Amino acid sequence: MPYELKQIALSTKGFMPEDEGDALFAAAIDASRVVTAADFVEIGSYCGRSTVWLGAAARMSGVKLHAVDHHGGSEENQPGWEWHDESLVDPATGRLNTLPHFLATLDRAGLNDVVRPVVAESSSAASSWVQPISFVFIDGGHGREVARTDWTSWSPLLTSGATLAIHDVFEDERDGGQAPFEEIYLPAISAGFSEISRIGSLRVLRKS
Ligand code: MG
Repeated sequence: MPYELKQIALSTKGFMPEDEGDALFAAAIDASRVVTAADFVEIGSYCGRSTVWLGAAARMSGVKLHAVDHHGGSEENQPGWEWHDESLVDPATGRLNTLPHFLATLDRAGLNDVVRPVVAESSSAASSWVQPISFVFIDGGHGREVARTDWTSWSPLLTSGATLAIHDVFEDERDGGQAPFEEIYLPAISAGFSEISRIGSLRVLRKS
């Protein structure tokens, strides 16, 4: 990870810890060597913190990163919820809008040539997908329906050798919400993905 980009990632608002961001970067680089000439996809970009790690990996791998987010914030980001940030509310509408913050991050990082923002619901983006994919990172909403939809939308687009990274996976409910574990991780294991690495709440799986 280039030093300057790492500093930009660390200075960007978001929830990705440094060691997990570095692991995400390494996992994407590795994925592009297993399935070549295929793009990366990020589900849930928020203000672009993890996007910087993945965009740097995409540049080094010679592929694009499609960054999918409706930019209205997840359930847990809304007013009254634990992960709400008042500074992300658009004063004109009174609603959360992370898109300007996300675009500012891409500008600051100089990643506009490799990152393609996809402003859409995850399921809608997946339903019209055409590009081959080597790597998907799911870090979208953490509600059960949302997590389940991310899995059912994107898993059919992953071919043999493709890598699936999932954030906020907690096997123990005392550590965090169970939706990413029960609605994405476990179904992936049942579908024949095998775990190749883990750090913190990040799980990296590969389709056989
Ligand atoms: Mg996360």
